[in-house]
Amino acid sequence: MPAITKIICPNCGSPHAERHLLDGQLSRTQCWDCDYLFVKCQRTNRVVEAYAPGMDVGRFRQAILVRNSLAVQG
Ligand SMILES: [Zn+2]
Repeated sequence: MPAITKIICPNCGSPHAERHLLDGQLSRTQCWDCDYLFVKCQRTNRVVEAYAPGMDVGRFRQAILVRNSLAVQG
């Protein structure tokens, strides 16, 4: 059973975004409200796939990671 964490969407601010842990090393963040998608390998810390409507993912990637880590801790 996959582990699912509720997070705040870093793209639109919706509280309905979720982070799924897949295979113990891939984390997938997705938002139901704006189609935001972010897949990262936990082991290598590399971004596998990223998509955010109306946003330059590469430029804002670091900000997204910081915001989500804060959200999880809080
Ligand atoms: Zn969103």
